[in-house]
Amino acid sequence: PRTVSDLLSMAFVLTIAPLLYWFGLWVVLPGLYGDEKLAYTLHFALGSFIMLNIVGNFTYTVLCDTSTDGGGRIVPVSTARAADGWRLCPACECLSPPRSWHCNVCDTCILKRDHHCVFTGCCVGYYNHRYFVMFLWYLFLGAAYAFCYGSLFIWTRIPFEFPMSIVKMVFPVAIFFFGFDSSIDQFYLLLYVVSAVGTLYTGVLCVYHFSLILRGVVGDESNKKDFRYDLGWRDNIREVFGERWYLMWLLPYIKSQLPHDGVTWHHLCSKKD
Ligand SMILES: [Zn+2]
Ligand SMILES: [Zn+2]
Repeated sequence: PRTVSDLLSMAFVLTIAPLLYWFGLWVVLPGLYGDEKLAYTLHFALGSFIMLNIVGNFTYTVLCDTSTDGGGRIVPVSTARAADGWRLCPACECLSPPRSWHCNVCDTCILKRDHHCVFTGCCVGYYNHRYFVMFLWYLFLGAAYAFCYGSLFIWTRIPFEFPMSIVKMVFPVAIFFFGFDSSIDQFYLLLYVVSAVGTLYTGVLCVYHFSLILRGVVGDESNKKDFRYDLGWRDNIREVFGERWYLMWLLPYIKSQLPHDGVTWHHLCSKKD
């Protein structure tokens, strides 16, 4: 993380995700399936699988260098032609390929730049797009999972009292930390509310990012209604998730070769014309 907002957002995710994991697997599941060994094991395995994907995809998103000069990519000058949309980046003082944009936080140009993600503290571009979207997807799954089972758990444990339960749910942080109710139940309620908000938030982001991918655009191109790189939804999926798109969602460690290099784009446009 290079800025304070990056640091805070990252710290938030890195605290909340393990807390929800602990809450779901060590508090909620034993509470619901204490005697049913098989059901407990299945849910435990599924929860751990989701957590592994969150951590793995997060790590890959952060470590994957998707800048124009990173990862041993040397952009040959001969391929740089202004007609193909190359432009001079004043900050990098070099020619940057089409669809790449400069990020002031990362201080470099990013290939097929989508956006700078504050939760991972890095830019999302051509080479880590897949990991970022999967990170988001598994965060959503995890939060939704925690919320569903949290719902079953929390209302058997805490009697719903109007209006106090509503107040406790609307201001869970204040209630807990300012000592109005610092019981473990209120802490569970806090995590439950976080899972509900997290499900909504990541769900909306998932819908947004998947719709961008299907239309073959990044956020900025979508705003400008620039659809020149749209190859049809099948090829658009390959463009982000690689040749083994049908398998790669299982784990970040599964290799899936991307069809292009993120540098040259003119052949894609000409193929379409
Ligand atoms: Zn630049
Ligand atoms: Zn950035």
